[in-house]
Amino acid sequence: AYGQSKLDEKDAQAVALGYVSDATKADKKKYPQYAAGQACSSCALYQGKPSDAAGACPLFAGKQVSSKAWCSAWAKKA
Ligand code: SF4
Repeated sequence: AYGQSKLDEKDAQAVALGYVSDATKADKKKYPQYAAGQACSSCALYQGKPSDAAGACPLFAGKQVSSKAWCSAWAKKA
């Protein structure tokens, strides 16, 4: 939604969850569950439409996560 700022990778919660605005930059050593192709756009928690460049995520209230981002809470969209 408008008025929401983009989530900063250095935000404390972002760091805690290993959020990266470019999913391909996910820390694969720390997060071995990461698999190529995973991104916010395919995450069950992502609130944006598939065509949106960014959208809300309940784990980061008031912020927008990039559709191409990733964090360790990624869960496959049903
Ligand atoms: Fe992206 Fe899902 Fe993590 Fe939210 S929980 S930041 S939508 S990967």
